[in-house]
Amino acid sequence: MIPQPVVLPLTVHERNKLGIRQFDIILVTGDAYIDHPSFGTALIGRVLWDAGYTVGIIAQPDWTTMADFSVLGKPRLFFGISSGNVDSMVNNFTPNLKRRSGDVYSPGGIPKRPDRATIVYTNRVHELFPDTPIVLGGIEASLRRFAHYDYWQDRVRQAILADAPADLLVFGMGERQVVEIARRLASGEMVSSLQDVRGTAFTLELAQWRNNRPEGIIELPGFREVSQDKISYARAFAMHYLEQDPVHGRPVAQPHPKTIAIQNPPALPLSAEELDHIYDMPFSRRAHPSYTQKIPALEPVQFSVTSHRGCFGSCSFCALTHHQGRIIQSRSVSSIVREVTRMTKMPEFKGIVQDVGGPTANMYYLSCDLWEKFGACREKRCSPSCKNLNTSHRYQCELLKKLLEIPGVKKVFIGSGIRYDLALADDSGYLEMICANHISGHLKVAPEHVTKRVTDIMNKPECEVFDRFCERFEAHQHGKSKRHYLLPYFMSGHPGCSMSDMVNLAVYIRDHQLYTEQVQDFTPTPMSVSTCMYYTGLNPFTLEPVHVPKGHEKKIQRALMQYRESPNQELVIEGLIAAGRTDLIGTGRPFLVPPLGRGVLQYAKKQKKTKK
Ligand code: SF4
Repeated sequence: MIPQPVVLPLTVHERNKLGIRQFDIILVTGDAYIDHPSFGTALIGRVLWDAGYTVGIIAQPDWTTMADFSVLGKPRLFFGISSGNVDSMVNNFTPNLKRRSGDVYSPGGIPKRPDRATIVYTNRVHELFPDTPIVLGGIEASLRRFAHYDYWQDRVRQAILADAPADLLVFGMGERQVVEIARRLASGEMVSSLQDVRGTAFTLELAQWRNNRPEGIIELPGFREVSQDKISYARAFAMHYLEQDPVHGRPVAQPHPKTIAIQNPPALPLSAEELDHIYDMPFSRRAHPSYTQKIPALEPVQFSVTSHRGCFGSCSFCALTHHQGRIIQSRSVSSIVREVTRMTKMPEFKGIVQDVGGPTANMYYLSCDLWEKFGACREKRCSPSCKNLNTSHRYQCELLKKLLEIPGVKKVFIGSGIRYDLALADDSGYLEMICANHISGHLKVAPEHVTKRVTDIMNKPECEVFDRFCERFEAHQHGKSKRHYLLPYFMSGHPGCSMSDMVNLAVYIRDHQLYTEQVQDFTPTPMSVSTCMYYTGLNPFTLEPVHVPKGHEKKIQRALMQYRESPNQELVIEGLIAAGRTDLIGTGRPFLVPPLGRGVLQYAKKQKKTKK
């Protein structure tokens, strides 16, 4: 077995230097190769190498020719293809569907990733090596594993496996799956027989499906049905959503015109020992030395540590439930201490740990008594009010304390967002501790909205909980020479949000001095509950209608969040008129926006009269 190299090989020269004639596996990715555990290709590559397989990487290939795809030759076992750390359409376009000019995952920020990168790369590889198995992975493949609404084309697209000539799709975090696939292929199994790997999806011929339909499989309404009927789409979404738990999730199938897309139950969670083993691998935490320009995505995470995976928050606009799942998988304190100790040996390390966290920083080591045996509840959402949820932040406090004791570490920050409802439920002094030592200027929190109807639809805590948290946070700032601030994230244009709701949010932002130039405008990314609502206008779990701001209304909602910006003045006035809140138009403090001129006010009065 060849020991882990300093960096995984990108070139034939590097391959030869390691004494390798043919790679076992070649990973193709839309990101530049950064050897850091926050980047999927590095993580999967290192895990495969650790399991005894040699891995080459083709990073950001030029998809307009074949040359880059053939440069490392044909792998012995399979090609693993991913768009990179993000969905290529999310990465290439703004929420307003304008093409972005940069790509933070690329050297110098220069975009090199094609739209629908997974499909584009797969077609190229398949053309060159038609007999070599292809396994898809990463966020883009994972969240497009069944028929899904695609915001960029404003239509329902087929499961990605019906569009890309690949053999298998790994969904969720893929370490277990790729090692099993490699092991079974290496032992001589055909890729077509790998139909029972947890955490993977595959397709079957229609005839095969009709003659040999597996027992116990959940069949969703098919592609034709969901692409023509929104109620079927919403029903299919809810059915699929309920099967995402690794303990009780069942296999799911969805007929397509030429094939059947089938998903096995999700992979079982990794134990603390397994996670520790992965993060103990010799990541260099640097970009591959061949890059001459900086890769913007590296800087904010270079000295950040992943403490856990999963999030039981289940926010409607986030598809993490479909990817990492709700069950929290935490590393041990000692493993994280080892990782930070390794960082301190790097000459670039200045003593600052930028972040210790996961999808939600303060879920480290939180757990529910039922998860191990029964999985996360199918019908119930987790919240601090559930008596089975252990909300003590004791281990997080212990972890932060231990990290600060490492020689060479000056500061340890919480850079990821925290769930304030969980922090309020804690009784181990977490908030006090982070306010004293672990905030770098701002603490990120995500109330997202203030109207109960909207927070309910988003599955976020009510505004009153956020208010209580703000009070507690403020109390911890008293007497401090250097105070910290909250950085709350609010969202415009979310399904369920009316113009009046948005005005309420703007007033709240004004009254609480939370105005920010950063705006989160809802983007319907694949496979979130909110995207299903956006497309269907229905709550998928109740089939009740939901108001969906689109087009001009969505633009107005966005402008209302930035009511101070002069280019937004007209839109803000239009929104206030529509919401019947012309009392907020005027000059001075109590108003949101100054009047545009007599014409607008007359129009407003006329509108009011018509309403009466
Ligand atoms: S019992 Fe409570 S904490 Fe546990 S999975 Fe169910 S809702 Fe979540």
